[in-house]
Amino acid sequence: MINKIYVLKFGGTSIASTERINYVANRIYSYVKKGCRLAVVVSAMGNTTDGLIKLAKKINPHPSEREIDMLISTGEQISASLLAMALHKKKVDAISLVGHQVGIITDAKHTQAKILQIKTDRIKKEINRGRIVIVAGFQGMTTYNEITTLGRGGSDLSAVALAASLRASMCEIYTDVEGIYTADPRIVPGAKKIKHITFDEMLELASRGAQVMQTRAVEVAKRFNIPLHVRSSFSKKEGTIIMGKISYIEEPVVRGITLMENEIKITIRNVPDKPGIAAYIFNQLAYGDINVDMIVQNVSRKRTTDISFTIPESSVNKIRKLSNKIIKKIGAESILTDEDIAKVSVVGVGMKTHPGVAAKCFHALAKNKINIEMISTSEISISCVVKKKMGKKALRVLHKVFGLYKTSG
Ligand code: ADP
Ligand code: ASP
Ligand code: MG
Repeated sequence: MINKIYVLKFGGTSIASTERINYVANRIYSYVKKGCRLAVVVSAMGNTTDGLIKLAKKINPHPSEREIDMLISTGEQISASLLAMALHKKKVDAISLVGHQVGIITDAKHTQAKILQIKTDRIKKEINRGRIVIVAGFQGMTTYNEITTLGRGGSDLSAVALAASLRASMCEIYTDVEGIYTADPRIVPGAKKIKHITFDEMLELASRGAQVMQTRAVEVAKRFNIPLHVRSSFSKKEGTIIMGKISYIEEPVVRGITLMENEIKITIRNVPDKPGIAAYIFNQLAYGDINVDMIVQNVSRKRTTDISFTIPESSVNKIRKLSNKIIKKIGAESILTDEDIAKVSVVGVGMKTHPGVAAKCFHALAKNKINIEMISTSEISISCVVKKKMGKKALRVLHKVFGLYKTSG
């Protein structure tokens, strides 16, 4: 094990207090004793990032994204320096570095920046001097020295990207649950921990609402084939390994169920039913930097139709800005916003070869009097939009009907 580089990442709850920071320092110390060379990525303490965003909105309900990045990037700087101090107390040579000191270069898309390059000279130099490097996650810098952040949950991405550029032999994601479960264990207490899961399945779970791993982090792990070990910082138990290939005797049909509660439904009413309209609408949304998820176009009545789609609730201001322009240009009646929705998804690569999953899902929801407002399917997932207050119930119903309480492995 001597001299291998490990990347460890500790999430917000793992370092939510000074006691927890000291505990994490002890945990890091056990790696140091084994002779491991470490880059440790940290999130902001507890709910610091949410608190900072609230603070900004008290000052200005529509803060500029550049200033939001200036503000929220500070959370990780606090935890990185405190953790370095905790290690110094244990006589461990450690140094904290923020994004630009680590050489994480991003594009200029504030609050959602993409990593373009990591200049690893500084971090390698520190590691080679025998130092434990504590990296403030979630942030980078543009080529014009502007501070950027990598999207919510972005410290996962910092860790995976660093593991890729340092060619680390291990990337461990320490969090507040014992691994990846068949559903969020806080909502479905009987959910089972999964021992191994493929990048593809994890990507689908993450993008459909399992916030335990940031979707973009899983994408990078898949691209560079970096196995991830997601585990608890509150116990010593083995967690879940996310990896490229698993040799199943029989692939599970359904891997997990997810719930997404932070999307909204937009309906454009009475859209003229002619070629080019959908292209125009979704082009405008793309230019406006709005990610569209499900799209449903209703049957045409009297040559007009309704188009509904879901977007992240954080894009509500962006769509409001575009509404008038779109309505005028295409001659639609109005744009309605519905915040009262939740999306449940059934995910599993095995669904490709097993018919009947959709029918089972719809039947279970109907039997429990849960109305489905929108449906979308892919080869490996089925998603249903339901009323927000029905979301958690729908999650539990589907988890039960697909027998996931019994699965493991
Ligand atoms: P961190 O601060 O460590 O990054 P997050 O809050 O981002 O942690 O992610 C961990 C949380 O993800 C858990 O507390 C859990 O409630 C939630 N979660 C949602 N879906 C799942 C799932 N399928 N398996 C495990 N955790 C999940
Ligand atoms: N602190 C950031 C957030 O809350 C990044 C992270 O936790 O990964 O989104
Ligand atoms: Mg997270």
